[in-house]
Amino acid sequence: MTLYVGDISPNVTSLGPGNRIALWLQGCTLNCPGCMSPELFTRRESCLRKVEEILRQILAFAPGHRGLTISGGEPFQQAVGLRNLLLLLRRYTTLDVLLYSGYTLAELRKGPPEMAAVLSLTDFLISGPYRRDLPTTKPYRGSDNQVLHFLSPRAQLDGLTGNAIGEPAPSLEVRIKEDGSLHIIGIPRPGDRAKLRNLLLQRGIELKK
Ligand code: SF4
Repeated sequence: MTLYVGDISPNVTSLGPGNRIALWLQGCTLNCPGCMSPELFTRRESCLRKVEEILRQILAFAPGHRGLTISGGEPFQQAVGLRNLLLLLRRYTTLDVLLYSGYTLAELRKGPPEMAAVLSLTDFLISGPYRRDLPTTKPYRGSDNQVLHFLSPRAQLDGLTGNAIGEPAPSLEVRIKEDGSLHIIGIPRPGDRAKLRNLLLQRGIELKK
């Protein structure tokens, strides 16, 4: 079983509560205008990885992490491989699972059985297409229409105690990758991109998009 993977990063604090591992899957046909991740629309054969190999990398990162956030791309467009990864994750870790999807929960519930299986293995779901005309300050959401669902008993308890929202999180994290490229992680708030562009320009770095 395989998945198209864009990237995996540890120590991410802008995409869900606590310290998290983030997994970005490749491939999305939803084409939301203004999407932050158009580089993940297309699946590349060179990025196809075995589920067991992805699990090994997550296990190596797991100590010191509260959960795994899966974004994209559109995770549910690889629901069969994702279901298998989440089954293994449940067996071998206690990480909670937060999924981003451009589909609404109602759309996902009408989908094929593997989508229902993924939902049954998910704690938190942030659902709905990105709408750049609906900016928001709600934690972890890209636009105001998106909904945070507490799908598991564990997530519902976190929702009641406020742990699902956690400490005020940074909206963006900026990292320099091994190949020298910049990796911008998180959900930009209105004006964040302009601020970041200016800060980097002051240091002689120009953002291309
Ligand atoms: S669903 Fe997500 S990845 Fe796909 S276009 Fe919309 S915002 Fe971008």
